[in-house]
Amino acid sequence: MKQINTDVLVIGAGPVGLFSVFQLGQLGIKACVVDCLSQAGGQCSELYPEKPIYDIPAYPMVTARDLISNLQSQIKPFKPLFLLNQKVEKLMSEKNTFISKTSNGISISSKCIFIAAGNGAFGPNKPPLENIEEFENTSVFYSVTNKENFSNKNIAIAGGGDSAVDWAIELSNVAKKIYFIHRRDKLRAAPNSVKKLKDLTENKNVEMIIPYQIDSIKGTNGEISELIVKNLNGQSKTLEVQFFLPFFGLSTELGPISNWGLEIEKKILKVSQSSCQTSQEGIYGIGDICDYPGKLKLILSGFSEAATASHHCFKRVFPEKSLHFEYSTTKGINTFS
Ligand code: FAD
Repeated sequence: MKQINTDVLVIGAGPVGLFSVFQLGQLGIKACVVDCLSQAGGQCSELYPEKPIYDIPAYPMVTARDLISNLQSQIKPFKPLFLLNQKVEKLMSEKNTFISKTSNGISISSKCIFIAAGNGAFGPNKPPLENIEEFENTSVFYSVTNKENFSNKNIAIAGGGDSAVDWAIELSNVAKKIYFIHRRDKLRAAPNSVKKLKDLTENKNVEMIIPYQIDSIKGTNGEISELIVKNLNGQSKTLEVQFFLPFFGLSTELGPISNWGLEIEKKILKVSQSSCQTSQEGIYGIGDICDYPGKLKLILSGFSEAATASHHCFKRVFPEKSLHFEYSTTKGINTFS
């Protein structure tokens, strides 16, 4: 198992987790950031990258994507370690140290923990099939990382939103055949993309399987041999595919964080307003995940909480040092070697 030592483990690479790396870095505190998604940005990147945000101070307007990209540039000098595509699942404390374990088997030792987990870990909504886990990451995928894997294969894509439609269009360039499955005639994706997909059915390798729902998967050793779909009249079709890509959107769940013995109410961590510390010393809650009297679920409030928590945790990270408050205009950017 890989072992990482850091000063602060930041759980969540949303805007608030990212900005906490800056605040910590300015105080000479090293951070490791873990997120279960494949990219940084939390809700901004996953839910509304193209939308304009109007209430970030000094930006009359910034898209969510640009905000995240700027935050990433701002924290570059501090060289944070990013562990993406993995969830922090376990947390133990030993004396003054926390040992956390990720779903990829990495063990992280840290002096403090910043929980910047928003509404919880993002994960795919899965089709309700009993045996789907047997096929996951072998022939069932909830995202596409390398489209060449699908070259010259028969693929079933299910869903009605932008991801399903956009990936069907994109993969039609490499796949042998694409079965596009949706339970209703109407697709929710952008009208232009829907038109493009329908055009592809006329002379290319795309076949619409509508209105059908996934009924069952058959196969061995994680490899699909058949996908069976049914319509509302109970008529079924058997699709011979090697891959199945369900795009049913994302959901969030607090998951493991709720088992760490922290004070939680309605899936929100109770923190002290003056420090952002949770009911356990050394563990902080910042951003959408935390609550205190007067809390506003806004990015700008999260930024301020990141600063508060960073200053408060300094004494635990460096017990032998005293903290002298300084403006960034005075000290410039702290750099790590
Ligand atoms: P998030 O952005 O939710 O990020 C949390 C991250 O933690 C996620 O990436 C998640 O995968 C990860 N995570 C959780 N648990 C774990 C775990 N156990 N292990 C690993 N990773 C984990 N706010 C504004 O201020 N202005 C706006 O105009 C605005 N517009 C919005 C528009 C929309 C459509 C939406 C949905 C939200 C909007 N918001 C806006 C709200 C804003 O996006 C949130 O306040 C902000 O994203 C909170 O940031 P965060 O970093 O606390 O959490």
